[in-house]
Amino acid sequence: MERKDALRPSEPDRDEFVRDVDIIASVFNVLPLTEAARQLREGVLPPRAACVTFDDGYANNHELAAPILERAGVPATFFVTGGAIDTGVMWNDLVIEGIAGAGGQLQLDEADALPASLVSKPAGPELVSGILQHLKYLPMDLRWERAVSIYRTNVASQLPRLMMSREMVADLAARGFDVGGHTINHPILKELSDSQAKDEVESCRQWIQDVTKIAPKSFAYPNGRPGSDFDSTHAAMVAAAGFELAVSTQWDLASVHSDVFSIPRVGPWWRQNRSLAGGSMRLYAGHYLGRH
Ligand SMILES: [Zn+2]
Repeated sequence: MERKDALRPSEPDRDEFVRDVDIIASVFNVLPLTEAARQLREGVLPPRAACVTFDDGYANNHELAAPILERAGVPATFFVTGGAIDTGVMWNDLVIEGIAGAGGQLQLDEADALPASLVSKPAGPELVSGILQHLKYLPMDLRWERAVSIYRTNVASQLPRLMMSREMVADLAARGFDVGGHTINHPILKELSDSQAKDEVESCRQWIQDVTKIAPKSFAYPNGRPGSDFDSTHAAMVAAAGFELAVSTQWDLASVHSDVFSIPRVGPWWRQNRSLAGGSMRLYAGHYLGRH
C-alpha cells in the first residue's frame, strides 16, 4: 500500500516494500517460481535460492509492487483470484473497509451472530481478525452476503475496487511476470465438495488463459494450510488440471524433500524479527532441526 493502514498492520507501505525488495535482491538468488520448482526437483538449486509471490491480485501489486520489482530485476509470481478481480473486491476487504468506514460506530446484523465479547472490541486489528475468522469458514455465498451487508450498512451501497482489473493482470503477464491460479472465489477447498473444488481449480486456470493468453503453471491454495484448508485430493486436482506446482502457507523453507504440489512459504520475517540474520538463523534451525 502507498501508506501504512492501521487495520492491515502486516502490509508494508511503499518504503518498507522497497527495503524488502533491496534485501531480497542483495541476499538471495531470486528465481522465477516455475524454474525454482524444476531445479528443486532436480536437486540443482543454487545456494540461498528464493522466489517472490503475491496472493489474491490486489491493484497495488500492479501499481506499486511491479515497478519496484522490475527496477530491482526481481521476478515474481502473482496468484490471482479471478472472481474477485471481476467483482473488484474480496469478501474480507469488504469487512475491513466496512469497519474502517464505520468510524467506531460499527453496526452489525444480528444474522452475523458474532459473540458479544468480539463486538464490544474497539475498531482495530483484533476486531478485524475476529470477524474475519468468524466468517471465513461459512459457505461462500453466505460469506459474501454477510461481507456485503457489513460494507453497505456501514459505508455505501457502491462496492469499492481494490483488486486489479483484467487489463492489469494481462499487463503483468506481458511484462514477463508469472500469473498463477488462486481459484475463482477463494474458498477453503476442504469445505467444498470434490466437484466444486475441481471446478474452482479448473475454472481459474481457464480464466487466466483467457485473460493473459498464457496457460498458468503455478497455483496457490486459498488460506493454504496443508491438512486444514486443502489435502492431497486437492493437490491431485491441481496436478490433473495441468499446473506444474502449488504453494501453501505452511511457514517453512522448501527442500529437495518438498512436494512440488505443497511448497511451503515464508513472509518477510526480518520485519517481524527486526533482524535478518537472527530471523534467518531461527528459520534454518527450525527447518533443519524440526523446531518451530
Ligand atoms: Zn488468498
